[in-house]
Parts: sequence; structure tokens; C-alpha cells
Amino acid sequence: MFLAAGNCAGTAGALTATAFWLVAPRAICRPRSGGQDAALAVAYPSGASLAMTDDAKQHSGGCLCGALRYETVAEPMSQGHCYCADCRKASGSGFVPFMNFRSADVRFRGEARQFRSRAWNGGEAVRNFCPICMSLVFGGEIGLSDSFTIYAGSLDDPSRFRPTLAIFAEGRPAWALIPPGLTVFDRMPAAQG
Ligand SMILES: [Zn+2]
Ligand SMILES: [Zn+2]
Repeated sequence: MFLAAGNCAGTAGALTATAFWLVAPRAICRPRSGGQDAALAVAYPSGASLAMTDDAKQHSGGCLCGALRYETVAEPMSQGHCYCADCRKASGSGFVPFMNFRSADVRFRGEARQFRSRAWNGGEAVRNFCPICMSLVFGGEIGLSDSFTIYAGSLDDPSRFRPTLAIFAEGRPAWALIPPGLTVFDRMPAAQG
């Protein structure tokens, strides 16, 4: 079901995809679980064109090969590190750095494939990755979600990520360190439901 990996070398600035989306929900996170409810990734359909504009751009980023890109026109509602077991597995790392944006504030370009799993709140967590280079880029479902979770490692300027939260910290391995200064939650902050 997965596409063959492409040649990801030196493709920055070579965007040719024309699908754009305005988006939506959040795809964080369930605390711990097995992978029993893994659903297969599906490609987003192409959408109508909607050019990104430079005037209001706040953040931009995308996947390793450059085929899946995004821009935001606002600052995130929240940002931090997620230490849940699903993020650990999905990323192969100790945590995922996330920036949560209102769906209306993010625009995507290119194709994405999705992986669905059960979310911490019983809903569906949807993680999106580039079908060419397989980079994880964002969480949420375009057209359905009211917010998106951009994975901050995909930012063009990662220095602009300013984490303030550490969520789902309770089950993390000892080596998944929490930087000083973050507000730590065993699971989710109540306000973020
Ligand atoms: Zn998570
Ligand atoms: Zn890519």
C-alpha cells in the first residue's frame, strides 16, 4: 500500500504539487497502547488551488523532500512536547515537538498520506506523512479537523518553536528528558480536551 520511496536529494524549491487544503482536528495523542487499531494510510485527494500568500505568513515548513509543504498565517494556540507512546513509536524518538494551530490558520500543499489510530480521548488520531520521503509532518484531518498539529521538526526555521508544555509525560522512558521550564502534564491539560 505504500508508495516506493523517491529520490529525496536536493529537491528543495522544486515544488510542483498543486493540491491545497485548508484544514482541521487534532491528532494528539493517546497515552499508551499497542498498534492493534492501525489503519492504512490513504492519500488525500487533490483539492482546489489556493495560493499561499506571503503577506501574513508566520511559519512555513514541510517534509524532507519538499513535496508536502505548509504555511501558517498565525502563531500556534499551544506548543510543546508530546511524550505519548504513539508519538514515540510514530517518530522513533522520545517525544514529538508539536505546534497546535487553528485549522483556518494553516494551509497545506502537496499530497499527504495518513495513518489512523485510536486517540487518547477515544476519537481518531490521524498522522500525515509525505508519500515520497515518508516524513511525518502534521496531525489532523484536512477538511474535518478544527485544529492541526504541526510537528515542529519540519519547520523551515525550527528556532521559532517555543515549547511551553510537556504532555503525556507519565509513561515516558527515563531517557526522554523534559527540558526545564515546560509545564508538565501526566496526560493532557484539561483545557485542551
Ligand atoms: Zn503524542
Ligand atoms: Zn517528502
